[in-house]
Amino acid sequence: MSKINTVLGPISPEQLGVTAMHEHIGFGLPGCDLDPQWWTPRHQMLEVTIEKLSRFREHGGQTMVDCTGIGTGRDIPYWQVISRATGVNIVACTGFVAGDSALPYFRNKSIEYLADLFYHEITVGVEGTNVKAGAVKVGVSRGGLSELDERIYRAAARAARATGVPILTHLSVEADRQMDLFEMEGLSLDRVVIGHSDMGMGADIERDYRIAERGAYVGYDTVGYDTEKGTPEQPAPYWSRPREERLDHVMTFFEKGYEKRAIISADANCWPLGWKSVNHSVNELFEVFIPDLKEHGLDDRIIELLLVETPAKLLTMQDPQPNLVKAAKQAVTQG
Ligand SMILES: [Zn+2]
Repeated sequence: MSKINTVLGPISPEQLGVTAMHEHIGFGLPGCDLDPQWWTPRHQMLEVTIEKLSRFREHGGQTMVDCTGIGTGRDIPYWQVISRATGVNIVACTGFVAGDSALPYFRNKSIEYLADLFYHEITVGVEGTNVKAGAVKVGVSRGGLSELDERIYRAAARAARATGVPILTHLSVEADRQMDLFEMEGLSLDRVVIGHSDMGMGADIERDYRIAERGAYVGYDTVGYDTEKGTPEQPAPYWSRPREERLDHVMTFFEKGYEKRAIISADANCWPLGWKSVNHSVNELFEVFIPDLKEHGLDDRIIELLLVETPAKLLTMQDPQPNLVKAAKQAVTQG
C-alpha cells in the first residue's frame, strides 16, 4: 500500500495535497535550548507556530516536511500537538542537517552505524516514540563536504534504499559529488532533492541543469530569504538573495523545460531556536513567491506540479530493498 509517514501516522499520497517540501517548526544548534538568551515559554512558541500554520492551511497548504533531523530541535510530541491543532500533516526527517551540526556523540560513527540509526527511525520510531520518519535529511558542512558528511550521505542512501523514503539535502554546493555518493550506494537519483539551489551564495543555473539531467530534483527551497528584508538592526542572513534575482533564476530553469525536476519551499522556521530570523514564514510561498511566478507567466498547471504532484512522487515510499542494512537483517532474524 502506498503511504507516507507523518507524525500522526501513515497517510496515503492523496492526503498529501499542497506540500512544502523543506520547512522547520524550529531549527537550532544542539544546546541552544539551554541558553537563557533564547529561552522562550513553550506556549508563546506554540501560539506563533499555530498562527503561521493555520494561515498555511487557509492558503490551501496541507503538508509540510520538517527538515530538522536529529538533535537540532526535532520534537515529536510538540509537533503532534501542532499537527492536531492546525490540520497540517507534518513529515519528520531522520538524518542530520549537516555533519557540522550533528551532535558530537555521532561524529565518529561508521556508515553502518548511521545507516542502522536512520533505518530504525524510519521503520521503528523516532526518539522512543512510534512515530516514523518519512524522509532523510543530509547536508554539506560549512566549508564543504566533510568526511563525516560523506559517511552520513552514504548511510542515508542505504537507509533510503532499504525503506523507500526520499533524501533531502541542505545546500547544493558540490552537487555532483553529492550525487556521486548516492549513486555509489546504488540509490536512484530520482529519490533525491538537492536543496537550497536558489540561495544567493553559489547560485549556478548550469549546475541546476546538471542536477535535472542526472535525474535528481532541484530544491528551490529558500524562497523568501530576500536581501531587501534586512534592516540595520536585523540584517538579512548571508544566504539571502534579491527577490528579483531569485525569480529570474527559477524562471530560467522552468523556461528551459525542467519544471518536472524541481520543488519549491521556504525553509522557514515557525520559531527559530537560538537565532533571529528576518520576517519570514512558509506563507511567503503563497503570499509573495507564487504570485511573482504567475506574474512572470508561469501557469497553474506547473504550480500544481511543483506543490502537489512532484512532492507526492517523492514522498510516497517506494518498494524497499531491506537486505542493505544490518538492522533490517536483525529485524528479520528476530522475527
Ligand atoms: Zn532547512
